[in-house]
Amino acid sequence: MYGSGNQPIIVLKEGTERSKDKEAQFNNIAAAKAVADAIRSTLGPKGMDKMLVDTIGDVVITNDGVTILNEIDVQHPAAKMVVEVAKTQDAECGDGTTTAVVLAGELLKQSESLIDSNVHPTVITNGYKLAATKAIEVLKEISVKTDDKIIKKVAMTALTGKSVGGEDDYLSDIVIKAAKAVLDDGKVNDDNIKVQKKVGGVIKDTYMVEGIVIDKERLHSRMPKKIENAKIALLATPMEVKKTEVDAQISIRDPASMAAFLAEEEATLKAMVEKVKSVGANVVFSQKGVDDLVQHYMAKQGIFGCRRLKESDLEALAKATGGNIVGNIAELTENDLGKAKLVEEKTVGAEDMTFITGCSNPKAVSIIIRGGTEHVMDEVERAMHDAIRVVGLAMEDGKVVAGAGAPEIELALRLSEYASSVGGREQLAIEAFAKALEIIPWTISENAGIDSIDSIIKLKTAHEKKGKDGKYYGIDLETGEAVDMLKKNVVEPLRVKTQAITSATEVANMILRIDDVIASRRAAPMNPMGDPRMGGPGMDGIGGMM
Ligand code: ADP
Ligand code: MG
Repeated sequence: MYGSGNQPIIVLKEGTERSKDKEAQFNNIAAAKAVADAIRSTLGPKGMDKMLVDTIGDVVITNDGVTILNEIDVQHPAAKMVVEVAKTQDAECGDGTTTAVVLAGELLKQSESLIDSNVHPTVITNGYKLAATKAIEVLKEISVKTDDKIIKKVAMTALTGKSVGGEDDYLSDIVIKAAKAVLDDGKVNDDNIKVQKKVGGVIKDTYMVEGIVIDKERLHSRMPKKIENAKIALLATPMEVKKTEVDAQISIRDPASMAAFLAEEEATLKAMVEKVKSVGANVVFSQKGVDDLVQHYMAKQGIFGCRRLKESDLEALAKATGGNIVGNIAELTENDLGKAKLVEEKTVGAEDMTFITGCSNPKAVSIIIRGGTEHVMDEVERAMHDAIRVVGLAMEDGKVVAGAGAPEIELALRLSEYASSVGGREQLAIEAFAKALEIIPWTISENAGIDSIDSIIKLKTAHEKKGKDGKYYGIDLETGEAVDMLKKNVVEPLRVKTQAITSATEVANMILRIDDVIASRRAAPMNPMGDPRMGGPGMDGIGGMM
């Protein structure tokens, strides 16, 4: 029924240059299905991982749909359109990428038999559009309002199945705390959540700080470790005497002029510190270098300083503390200084980091991720990032749906009913759309080693027989039984589902409307000899589709 497409799709440079009508449609559908087939084994919490090896042997192991599709080199134009769906889904929601692609593939697969029996593609696309609109209506209707408990379930669902060392419960609390902290005007702005990774400890040592943390220690051991009521100068310029750009030679003939030269340098450096002091700064964060002598003077003045900050850190500090990044020390004024209640150097693991807390803009938080290896921390970071996005969507919209195939089965049933009310040939397309939705519970079951046919039957029975809660029944991947997913805590934001349906339908319809594929010869003007072998990049990806 849903087995992977048997037609191998070879994407070569030479071969057909033009295909029309059904041939074009079937080529495009085959290519799109090939993309969906490539990632469907990763769908769901029991999905497998893919190992991607590039030409120089670097390896990425992931089960994230969009990461996989970003890494593989897709050439066929229709296949590229499907890859775009994953990217859109990722940009809009940060989750549901595999779902969107698998659904797009299945919508196209279901359309094949309709095309075969001479249903015109326009009829199919119209039917799909009607079905998608109805599906979104039904999704909204079966969605559930969020509260703190449900938000926790959303975070857990997003983290379960990710390699976070079984710490999903612990991390989900941090995810929620961070998302709440940056919730502003109904929007969760995850740009305001900064992540710092420090190797060592265990995943459970990960924590959140209200403020900004930078991976730098103070410049001088005699600088204060802690500054209260910090007034912070943010510099994008070095506190050093400029080295000459060209190899200029300064010849000094007598010791007196040497001393004068050094004294002048010293005076310049001292003046920088005095300038900073004079505007009232007691903390200096510089993106560039800071001379040893400047460090010494700053320490003497009781100023806390760090150098060579990342540009992104400096920008985050500017935002959080309300300061301005200054490119010329001479122009620094009191108004440019950022403010924070506390700037403090603290030890994390074996190293020191600087914590800026009590910032004038409280909507800035940092998460310090700990873990045994870089690899572990990267995984935790990716998982937390996705979870923050998803929790953010649920907080913004206040609406979630049950997961584990529950909404797809409910939609399949409701759309079949709807199809007969529409009638005509569109009815066939709406039925095909309903059927296509079953691919989601089908695949998550299959990937968990559960009989997919049994799953679909159990789910449909539950949805029809269990009364008003029937619509929340999804497939329990441990037992293979249909279970109320609101009770089982498998919950996803409504927007992940509506977006997946919208973009999958859009791309399927776009592909179905193509009835002629012609290799365009963009490179022609550069090929005055008219040698077809020099067709150039314009021919890429369209020839040899089968
Ligand atoms: P996507 O890239 O589409 O987000 P995932 O691999 O994250 O792909 O799988 C998402 C699917 O897995 C959704 O249909 C979701 O409801 C389902 N799912 C998530 N957690 C569970 C669970 N614990 N049990 C069953 N299904 C789950
Ligand atoms: Mg997911």
